[in-house]
Amino acid sequence: MIITFYGTRGSIPVCESGFQEFGGNTTCVAVSGNTLGESVLIFDAGTGIRQLGKKLIHQVFSEKNKIFITFSHFHWDHIQGFPFFAPAYDKTKHIEFFILSDTPPVDDLKNVLSKQMESTYFPILIDNMGANFTFTINKSDELSFDGGKLLVNKHNHPGGAYGYRLEVEGKILVYCTDIEHGEEIDQKVVDFCKSADVLIHDAQYTPEQLFNHRGWGHSSWEQAIEVAELAGIKKLFLTHHDPEHNDEFLRNIEKQCQKRFPNCFLAREGQQIKI
Ligand SMILES: [Zn+2]
Ligand SMILES: [Zn+2]
Repeated sequence: MIITFYGTRGSIPVCESGFQEFGGNTTCVAVSGNTLGESVLIFDAGTGIRQLGKKLIHQVFSEKNKIFITFSHFHWDHIQGFPFFAPAYDKTKHIEFFILSDTPPVDDLKNVLSKQMESTYFPILIDNMGANFTFTINKSDELSFDGGKLLVNKHNHPGGAYGYRLEVEGKILVYCTDIEHGEEIDQKVVDFCKSADVLIHDAQYTPEQLFNHRGWGHSSWEQAIEVAELAGIKKLFLTHHDPEHNDEFLRNIEKQCQKRFPNCFLAREGQQIKI
């Protein structure tokens, strides 16, 4: 399993100097690898998906190999890159959008994505992009996925958000962003993350900032580490960095995190993990 971060920023993209090490693009993580064939599974379509698109546009996909895109939820920072995803304009490409949940957040997935492309907001309509799209709402909490399985867990965030657990050939990845635990760590989330090789977890705030941002839907790095400790995680990657946290600030946080949990890293745009 190859996991690549294309966007690690939360809330809004940033492009100032001092933000280049951890990156300024909003959330997008791609999973590829042997068991996936030529397919790629994409979690979230924040602005980072633009760079991923530039790579995938040169890739030839056969009939059964596709670009799969799923979403933690539909806040802007998780969908705003899609209109700039080059493969969506290539009529030889097939993109399968899907939601996996027995309580789906929307009943029309295409509608959610096409709304931000209405002529008031964007020059090209989704139907005029060119690629072959399918939109699937899978009313289940588990899906067979390329020889393994993909599981989903709904967690607390304004409007709700979903974490994903991908298990393939004995390797486990959990993607869990835009989560607010509340006063205590959500035990359901800990159970869902159990024994993962890699956990990608929201850590937008410092513990002090979290105190002043109740209801914004995010976690502190301390909470993310607590989840990792309770769930027996091998490697923890913190993401959804606050747009006000520059490289120096984040490097400092990473040092503090590693004192408590040595296998904890703050995700950097372009970083690749193989498990
Ligand atoms: Zn977000
Ligand atoms: Zn959100």
